[in-house]
Amino acid sequence: MGDGLVIVVSGPGGVGKGTIVELLVARDPRLHLSRSWTTRDRRPGESEQAYVFASPEQFEERIAAGGFLEWTEFIGNYYGTPHPDPDDLRERDLVLEIELDGAQQVKAAYPEAVLLFLLPPSREEQERRLRGRGDPNDKVFARLRKAESEEPIGREIADHVVVNDRLSDTVDEMLSIIASERDQRRSGLGSRS
Ligand code: 5GP
Repeated sequence: MGDGLVIVVSGPGGVGKGTIVELLVARDPRLHLSRSWTTRDRRPGESEQAYVFASPEQFEERIAAGGFLEWTEFIGNYYGTPHPDPDDLRERDLVLEIELDGAQQVKAAYPEAVLLFLLPPSREEQERRLRGRGDPNDKVFARLRKAESEEPIGREIADHVVVNDRLSDTVDEMLSIIASERDQRRSGLGSRS
């Protein structure tokens, strides 16, 4: 794809992926955040830039045109990562914040991708965070059930598992993992295939 790293940040809903990737890209200017497409509605107060908000028809047209690096259906909506611009990967490392099915697709297509799998400190804390962002009850339960079934798979396929307890520690830990992955890549030890 290019010289830059492809860094996949995955983990269950409510683990704090969105906040973490925002802090990562703010701290490290070499990191470039991919903007996904989704068919879900924009949440109250959510930035218009958070996603490309598309209709199911627009999304399906893009699938048919081969426009996604990966895409999935997650609890009733489509989510997908557009193919990255090769220029972006020449000078920078690309960060994808995606759920587990998409992470598996990226690892299958691109084994050099670095998969960081995040876990909440506890289910209770995860539930509290999910409720805190105003999702309806049925969505909260659906996300908690999904999290439980996905955790073993995430642990298995991840290159690094990180527990998001204190946010600033998590971000520091991830930046140091990324720095060591860059070093390995530079010294030619980065092949994971
Ligand atoms: P949310 O609706 O909370 O923004 O996102 C729901 C889930 O979809 C989250 O786990 C998020 O990481 C994931 N997600 C966001 N964008 C993408 C994408 O482009 N591809 C995939 N596979 N998952 C995504």
